[in-house]
Amino acid sequence: MRGNAEAHQMVAPGTLNAVLQLIADQPGQWTPIAGGTELMVAHAAGRLPPSKLVSLLGISDLRFITQQPGAIVIGASATFTDIRNHSGISAHLPLLARAATWIGSIANQSRATVGGNLVNGSPAADSSPALLVYDAELELLSLRGARRIPYRDFHTGYKKNALAPDELLFAIHIPLRFSHHMQYYRKVGTRRAMAISKVALGATAIITNNIISEIRLAAASLAACPIRLFRVEDVLRNEAVGLPSIRSARAALMAECTPIDDIRSTAEYRRSVAANLLEEFLSSVRRPQALR
Ligand SMILES: Cc1cc2nc3c(=O)[nH]c(=O)nc-3n(C[C@H](O)[C@H](O)[C@H](O)COP(=O)(O)OP(=O)(O)OC[C@H]3O[C@@H](n4cnc5c(N)ncnc54)[C@H](O)[C@@H]3O)c2cc1C
Repeated sequence: MRGNAEAHQMVAPGTLNAVLQLIADQPGQWTPIAGGTELMVAHAAGRLPPSKLVSLLGISDLRFITQQPGAIVIGASATFTDIRNHSGISAHLPLLARAATWIGSIANQSRATVGGNLVNGSPAADSSPALLVYDAELELLSLRGARRIPYRDFHTGYKKNALAPDELLFAIHIPLRFSHHMQYYRKVGTRRAMAISKVALGATAIITNNIISEIRLAAASLAACPIRLFRVEDVLRNEAVGLPSIRSARAALMAECTPIDDIRSTAEYRRSVAANLLEEFLSSVRRPQALR
């Protein structure tokens, strides 16, 4: 059933400071709305409870991408089109550039923001595995000041996160230290475009003389929120790539993930496909094109 627009109040203070003041005065009462591609869908489906919405649209302090020595910083309101078009991101963070091409349609990418993707907290969010394997940090902002937390600590459960009621997600800081890593990210959905993932797996690794010295693995749609697969990483670190380590890693992944059955897939399918993706990544070590 379609939502009733009159049940919602919306204001557009127009500046970052004015938004921060509003949510400081009435913490937890205002819901930020950026591109609206999650909130408007919820409204259209009658799933958005009566809300007080504060618009972030047009606030230029939140929509930027800057390349600094050693890092790229992305404002929370940067859209996936902004990310696709940024040459530094394509050059240094190819997994994030790739994720941006997977979000819905071209029209969607021009509206949907990376901040909305993270704060919405869907287990299937496409930007999440890329940001997890790149060790991204999130900058959270309120009138009390700014604080930075590792992105891996942001999601605290299904659609729950570490934002305080008076905070906005301000920016995402991504270190540029992965250019010598093997990189892999593959999304499995019903179709190649306009599909939410059934499973997605991202990876960065340093593998020298067939020995894995560094590895980061992250997945979407395998738990209540996007996750790093720390236990699988532990199983693989300092091991030689080969059948025994692939077998152990597959078993560790099956044990670490906690997918669900839903309209898109079954838990059993998700586990098996995730293990196949991990094997595909590890088997690609001897082939030049690890980035899938
Ligand atoms: C047709 C369609 C296809 C889609 N396909 C995909 C897909 O393939 N993959 C995928 O990952 N997603 C997909 N999405 C989901 C969606 O586009 C993304 O999650 C998008 O990035 C959300 O950003 P937004 O700015 O539109 O969020 P909004 O709807 O504006 O907000 C989403 C949530 O984030 C909060 N929020 C936004 N900005 C901030 C901030 N700065 N600080 C604090 N809270 C904030 C809002 O309060 C709200 O809770 C699709 C959506 C549609 C409609």
